[in-house]
Amino acid sequence: MGIKLNCWEVKQCGREPGGRRQDLGTCPASVENRLQGAHGGANAGRACWVVVGTLCRNCVQGTFAKKIQSCENCDFFNLVKQEEGEEYILAVHLLEKLD
Ligand code: SF4
Repeated sequence: MGIKLNCWEVKQCGREPGGRRQDLGTCPASVENRLQGAHGGANAGRACWVVVGTLCRNCVQGTFAKKIQSCENCDFFNLVKQEEGEEYILAVHLLEKLD
C-alpha cells in the first residue's frame, strides 16, 4: 500500500490551508478534524464527500445528499474506495462522526 494522499494532494486544488487558492476561503474538508484519520487522511482529506460545502470544481458544493451523485463520478472518491477495499467506511458511518 502506497502513501495515502488527501484530496487536495491528488486534485491539486490549492484550497487547503496555506494553498494557493483561497478566494472562496479554505475548503471545509481540509479542516474538518472530526474526520481526522478517516481512511488514513488528514482531517476529511479522504472523506470529503460527506463534508458540506466543499469547494471542488471552484464552487461551493451542497450537502452530502446533493453532491453524492457527482462524487460517485469523482476519480478521487473512486481511488479511495479502491485503495481502502474492505476497510472502506460507509458514508453513513462517516456522517455519524459529524453529528
Ligand atoms: S474537497 Fe475538493 S476543493 Fe476541497 S480540498 Fe478536497 S479536492 Fe480541494
